[in-house]
Amino acid sequence: MTELNKTTDADLLRYIVFQIIVKNVKEVHCLKLLTSLPLITSRIYTESKYATTAERKSVQNKVDTMIKSIKKNMKAMVLSMPWIKKDKRAYNALVKKFDKMRYEVAIEAVMLNNTWLDKYYKQIQFDDGDTFYDMRSKLLKFELYGKVRQLLYKQVDFEDDLTMANAKFMPILNKFVIYDGYLTAPNYHKKYLDSYNWGSVGFICAHEIGHSVDSNSITYNASGLYENFFRNSTEQELNKMTSCVVEEYDKIQVLPGNYTPNHVNGQLTLTENLADATGLEAAYRAFKDFTRKNPKEKRLRHPKLRGLTRDQLFFLGSVQFYCEKQADSFVEYMIENDPHSPNKARAEGTLPNVPALGKAFKCPVGSKYRPVKHCNVWTH
Ligand SMILES: [Zn+2]
Repeated sequence: MTELNKTTDADLLRYIVFQIIVKNVKEVHCLKLLTSLPLITSRIYTESKYATTAERKSVQNKVDTMIKSIKKNMKAMVLSMPWIKKDKRAYNALVKKFDKMRYEVAIEAVMLNNTWLDKYYKQIQFDDGDTFYDMRSKLLKFELYGKVRQLLYKQVDFEDDLTMANAKFMPILNKFVIYDGYLTAPNYHKKYLDSYNWGSVGFICAHEIGHSVDSNSITYNASGLYENFFRNSTEQELNKMTSCVVEEYDKIQVLPGNYTPNHVNGQLTLTENLADATGLEAAYRAFKDFTRKNPKEKRLRHPKLRGLTRDQLFFLGSVQFYCEKQADSFVEYMIENDPHSPNKARAEGTLPNVPALGKAFKCPVGSKYRPVKHCNVWTH
């Protein structure tokens, strides 16, 4: 009791909060605390992943080469459409959009700049005596002002954790980011054959670039502002192209018959499906440019894999990301809420629209992956 009388109310409160935290805080809460500083965790992750700056730069350069070629090929695909050629305003706007498109691979340059990071985080100071509760409160306050900060620091477009195996296109910035977390096995490895890396990493980059001309983002101009630069007749052609994809995905069943609905919602998933189709075709064309310049490649050592051609390896790499078991309950949630089609549908829907796939695996004409009729997404 004497001890209690000697203790200030503030210290008593700290002790009670500490006891609550000790009893309730789990590993997941500590992890959440860490991810509250995504720019820092991204920086630490990148530095620990690559032994040297040269190693990081070599991966970035490799991906950069893919991106440049894919962008060039996709731009050519889009501009070769007869109805785009006829619409001069749209044609010029799209040229500008592709030319001004920005991207970052693995890590944003600002995250590697210590002076910049110190300035960015100067409002947040942890002291030696801080409890978990104190730290959490400081972080919450910092997060609260996040949106305002993004406006002040115009060069930071987001505060994402780049350790995620992900990538994204931001139409209002005309920019995409390939997160470092994606550039790791089984998606990418410096020892993997180039053909496979082109399929897996090239396709994800191409998917993001493909978003720039999906049914939603195409309405944003090179500066990221909404602009309707299409003639009515061009819009009609665009709608014809996209409605084919809507109808195709509407038919894909992803759940057993006792579920309602059990098919993909083609309209909800349209932008993602378009990015997949545009992306895979553009990535493949860029890959063929690469193989022309680099005609020789080793074969895989495993006897059952040694026979795979470079085209087959490319396509195997491209569907690697879709290769996972998704529980029915998850798929049920996805088809009602997620703009991404379930992975099974992403593979079944995208591959038949890229004729090179059916040829690479010598599928009979008219079979599932080499249909006579398919959607032409920015192809003709
Ligand atoms: Zn996407």
